[in-house]
Amino acid sequence: MIKKILIVDDSIVARMGLKKAIPKDMPYEFYEASDGASGVEQFKTVAPDVVFLDLTMPVMTGFQALDEIMKIDKNAAVIVVTADIQKKTMDRVLEAGALLVISKPPSQEEIRSSLEKAGKFKEGVMKR
Ligand SMILES: [Mg+2]
Repeated sequence: MIKKILIVDDSIVARMGLKKAIPKDMPYEFYEASDGASGVEQFKTVAPDVVFLDLTMPVMTGFQALDEIMKIDKNAAVIVVTADIQKKTMDRVLEAGALLVISKPPSQEEIRSSLEKAGKFKEGVMKR
């Protein structure tokens, strides 16, 4: 079950938009970080069930943050949210351990289905 959601994005507008688009059917707990490094720190302290991760960020990019998060927990459920959906980028983040890549800004439907997949992954019903 997904309870804790960590949103890592340097844009407050993007963080708010994503949060707003998350279905209200579950009592989720939200955590936010505005760069990759604080995202990794929050990941350590909060141990979120799912992470929505932007790629282009100051201090530490989402690519680096993804690597760090996967080192901490190889079963982390990380959903990359990016406007850059080139195959090269998708392959790179999936290779690094991201569960999914969704386009930015994500639709409510994309968020709903990605949370469903993350839930299945966490329960062990679905493989990466
Ligand atoms: Mg950004």
